[in-house]
Amino acid sequence: MALAAVVVALPVLGDHVGVPLLLAAAFVGGVAPDADLLASHRKTLHYPVGFSALSGVSLGAFLLTSSPGLLVLTVAVGGAALHSVSDVLGGSAEREPWNPVTENGVYNHALGRWHRPRRYVRYSGAPEDFLVCLAFAAVAISAGATPAAADTALVGLVAFAGLYSLCRKRLAAIGATLDRLIPRRLRAVVPAVRVTETETDGTTVDIRFGR
Ligand SMILES: [Zn+2]
Repeated sequence: MALAAVVVALPVLGDHVGVPLLLAAAFVGGVAPDADLLASHRKTLHYPVGFSALSGVSLGAFLLTSSPGLLVLTVAVGGAALHSVSDVLGGSAEREPWNPVTENGVYNHALGRWHRPRRYVRYSGAPEDFLVCLAFAAVAISAGATPAAADTALVGLVAFAGLYSLCRKRLAAIGATLDRLIPRRLRAVVPAVRVTETETDGTTVDIRFGR
């Protein structure tokens, strides 16, 4: 979504900053919040209000100064804001969101509580999730404003999303199978990954080294 938004706005934004840098800022900003899978997912790095306010302030500062750095910051933080807000439209943050047992959509740090998931897209990797990905990628690619290498990368992202959707419900089983295939001697260096759910803090992916 962040990439598509930037591509559509390229005729205006491209005068200030190079296209590759803008696309990189949108991509990194767009995926960055999910780094909190390693902490408290959809809480630690998801700031629907904070990122939105910060991107608004950054946009205002850019409009006043025309500083390219502020534009890159606006795109990156705007991507993170779009991510944090739109996660509310998806499923809950839990191990099997297709069999939901919690109502934790996205944490709102300003209100100090979770937003309930609207479940228009039931879970990440659901068929409808892939269709959303496909639609935004089609917008970005068909705009014709991106270099050929970016279009190739977008097609690669769509392929990855398709593979993820096909495997999504079996990720735990696939992980367990791969884990069993790890030779005993390598177990000390290959981390153990465990997904935990808590009533109040959403999902955490725990990675442990040295088994
Ligand atoms: Zn997220």
